[in-house]
Amino acid sequence: MFRGIKSFLSGNYRVDLKTQQIQYFMIFLLGLYHFVMIALYFTLFGMNPMSMVNILSVLIYFLCYFSAKKKKYDMAYYLCFGEVVGYYVAATYIFGLGYGFNLYLIGLLAASYFASYIFSTEKKQIAIIRFLAIILAAFLVSVLISSFHDPILGTDRDFSYELINWLNFVTCACALVLFSATFMSRINVLENRLKSQNIEFKKMSMRDALTGLVNRRYLRNKYTELDAKEEVYSVIIADIDDFKKVNDTYGHETGDKVLVAVSKIFKEFVRGSDFVCRWGGEEILILMPVCTKKQAKRVGIQLLEEVQTAEIESTKGEKVTITITMGLADSTEGEQFMHSFRVADRRLYLGKRSGKNCIVDHD
Ligand code: GH3
Ligand code: MG
Ligand code: MG
Repeated sequence: MFRGIKSFLSGNYRVDLKTQQIQYFMIFLLGLYHFVMIALYFTLFGMNPMSMVNILSVLIYFLCYFSAKKKKYDMAYYLCFGEVVGYYVAATYIFGLGYGFNLYLIGLLAASYFASYIFSTEKKQIAIIRFLAIILAAFLVSVLISSFHDPILGTDRDFSYELINWLNFVTCACALVLFSATFMSRINVLENRLKSQNIEFKKMSMRDALTGLVNRRYLRNKYTELDAKEEVYSVIIADIDDFKKVNDTYGHETGDKVLVAVSKIFKEFVRGSDFVCRWGGEEILILMPVCTKKQAKRVGIQLLEEVQTAEIESTKGEKVTITITMGLADSTEGEQFMHSFRVADRRLYLGKRSGKNCIVDHD
C-alpha cells in the first residue's frame, strides 16, 4: 500500500489506469471533500449558506458518478468543472476574496489540461480554450462581486479563516499532485508500451511472416559484418524445384505449407551459427560464417536428402514430394558477399539445367 502510494507520487505507477477508474477516483475525492466541508461548516462555524453550497456540490458529484458509469466522460467532466466554478463564485459571494478560494482556479487550470488529455475520446475533444475562458470569466466575476458586495460571512480573520485558508491550500496542492502524478504515470505506461511495440516491430521487420525465416534486411547486416572479417564464409542459395507445379496441382495453400516445411528442415539442419534467409518467393539462402565450401557442401547434401524424404501433406491430405536445387560458393570466390552470391546463383542455374535435385559448387 505504502509502496503503491510512493510509486504513484513519483509518477512510476505502471498500472494503466482506465479513464473511468481515474474519474471515479477524482469524483470520490471531490465528493468526499465537499462532504467533509459540510460537516465542518455546519458544526464548527455554523456557516449555513456555505453548507448549502456543499450539499448541492455533493449532489452534483453523484450525477458525475452516474455519468462516468455510463461512460459519458465528457459530461462527467463538464459537471465537475461547472461545480468547481460555481463553488468558487458562491464562496466569493459568501466569504469575499480571502480564504484561499482563488486557489481552486489554479487547480482548475491544471484540471483543464488534464481532462482534455485523459477524457477526450477520438470523436469528442474537450476544448481547453473554452475552459480557460470560463476560468478567466469566473475570476473577473469574483473580482466584480467582491468590489460591489460585502461578504456574508467571515469578516473576522479568526480561527475559522486560518483553517479554511489552510484547507483550501492543502486541497489545491493535493489536486495538483494528483493530476501531475496521474499524467506522469500515464506517460510512463505509454512510453513502456511504445518501447515494447518498437522491439516487436523491429523483430517483425527482420523476419518473413510466412516461414519465420530472417529476411534480406536482416541478412544484409550479417553479411556486411562478415565481409569486414578475414574468415571464409559460405553461401548456399536453394530453390524449390517445380514449385509452380506444386501450386497448380495442390493449390497455393499447400504451396505455403511446403515453404513452411522446407524452411523448418533448413533451420533444423544448419548449424546454430548459420543464417537461413527467405531470399525470394521459393528461394532460401544460407549464410554460413566460418565455413569452407567443403563443410558447406556436406550440409547441402544432407538438406537435399532431408527435403526429398520429408513427409509433407497437401491441404487435402495427399502426399507431396519435393526436391530442391542448390548453388554453393564461398567468400574466396568473390570480393564481397554479393559477388559470391552471384557465383552461387549461377551454379543454382546450372543445377536446374542439369536435372535439378542437386548441389553445384563449381562452374
Ligand atoms: P524451377 O524448378 O525452375 O525453380 O521451377 P519453379 O516452378 O519452382 O519456378 P518458377 O519461378 O517458375 O515458379 C516459382 C513459383 O513459386 C511461382 C510462384 O507463384 C510461387 N511462389 C512464390 N512465392 C510463393 C509463396 O509465398 N507461396 C506460394 N504458395 N507460392 C509462391
Ligand atoms: Mg525461383
Ligand atoms: Mg523453383
